[in-house]
Amino acid sequence: LPASARPHVVLLCSPCMGHLIPFAELARRLVADHGLAATLLFAAATDTPSEQYASLAASIPDGVSLVALPAPPADALPPTAPVRERAVHAAMSSVRHVRELSQSLASRAPLAALVVDMVSVPARDVATELGVPCYMFFTSPWMLLSLFLHLPELDAGLVGEYRDATEPIRLPGCVPIHAHELPGALLVDRSSESYAGFLSMAKDAARVDGILVNTSRDLEPGVGDGTDGVTKLPAVHAVGPLVWTRPAGVNRDHSRVIPWLDQQPRGSVVFLSFGSGGTLTSRQTTELALALEMTRCRFVWVVKRPDEDTASGAFFGTRQGEEDLGFLQRGFVERTSGVGLVLPSWAPQTAILAHASVGCFVTHCGWNSSLESILHGVPMVAWPLYAEQKMNAAMLEVQAGVAVRVRADAGGFFSKEEIASVIRRVMDEEEGASMRKRVSELRDKAGQALTRDGSSALALAQVTDRWRSSSAGEK
Ligand code: UDP
Repeated sequence: LPASARPHVVLLCSPCMGHLIPFAELARRLVADHGLAATLLFAAATDTPSEQYASLAASIPDGVSLVALPAPPADALPPTAPVRERAVHAAMSSVRHVRELSQSLASRAPLAALVVDMVSVPARDVATELGVPCYMFFTSPWMLLSLFLHLPELDAGLVGEYRDATEPIRLPGCVPIHAHELPGALLVDRSSESYAGFLSMAKDAARVDGILVNTSRDLEPGVGDGTDGVTKLPAVHAVGPLVWTRPAGVNRDHSRVIPWLDQQPRGSVVFLSFGSGGTLTSRQTTELALALEMTRCRFVWVVKRPDEDTASGAFFGTRQGEEDLGFLQRGFVERTSGVGLVLPSWAPQTAILAHASVGCFVTHCGWNSSLESILHGVPMVAWPLYAEQKMNAAMLEVQAGVAVRVRADAGGFFSKEEIASVIRRVMDEEEGASMRKRVSELRDKAGQALTRDGSSALALAQVTDRWRSSSAGEK
């Protein structure tokens, strides 16, 4: 079909880079493999695009149109508003733009579906008005989706607070987890606003026509458990792992990292990065630097300016002075020159993970980072910071056996001895070797799931067939 006559999918993503990146890959596949046209709308939180957004936008393939929707007024929320609240606000404010754009698209081409992320479900009304299905693309693992889908039930049956639970929490299709590994909003008072916000987002997840989740049966064998039509929960389709592997922008630091890695022995480099938004405190940043020196390992460290108040301080990428490394302990960069490379703010992560010199990834366990590490066969040191990252870390260590968690002391601090010892375990020839073997097996299986007859590719084809036939009026 010519592009203009293809059924059109509108995808709406809230202002989270960790969502936009897999959304871009989903949109690319809808166009390249499923005969659809795709417009990807980004509900921006700020008017100035971040470096992250700009580098993704520069690599969007021709067939996908990426549109940043106008951000809500800067003073609409107090500067102290938490990330989740900001993201929800931007998604809510985007609905009228989504309506206008979708109506205009519908006048030119058949609309096949609206695909939202876990934050932008309020736009579902637009799909209802236009008579098309609304699907969710869930960019975190089944483990979090299972929590979302079963939270109303858990909530109704709970006496007291989650953190008081003495028994492990057993979510359908997931490894048991301890209450302290739940997302932060569940660990505060159940009468708090942040709990109410999380619960309402969880309830929203069940109100769509179907859910695509960025995982595969090999990674999470229990995906979809408890959603078999008996429970009135929407059908869940494992379509992952979808990761964005195009080069993420080029600046001075990006262009020096790959040649530097080329000079290092195979598997000898520790790569450290805490996602698009993760930040450490000053004290923790210094401790990590000391730990790196203790290991004597080669390293590439994407370091962000410390934040004393929150672990997601760089989430919207709008901080000033990000390139200035003056906060690092005096002499660190000089002492480690030749052995390590410190990159401020943002690096081409998938290109680094793909490099044969990288032997270990110290990660905050954001789901995209975890998938990218697996797809490149790199074992992980798990250092979760916020959102559902502690759940991901538990799953990666206990179920998948591809990561070792760093243990914090009673005050939540990671000592240099602990950090160095966990890095050494993953880099170690023997213990590391079994982890590397498991991660390579998972990499191969994940790759197979995405080939033409693989489980994830077939799952997406089944959904898109349904979208296409309903957009052609064969309901
Ligand atoms: N990323 C990157 N360069 C960086 C930091 C992050 O390219 O310096 C990419 C990374 O490859 C991943 C995404 O940003 O695709 C981060 O998503 P993730 O789910 O891991 O974490 P989040 O940022 O949502 O916490």
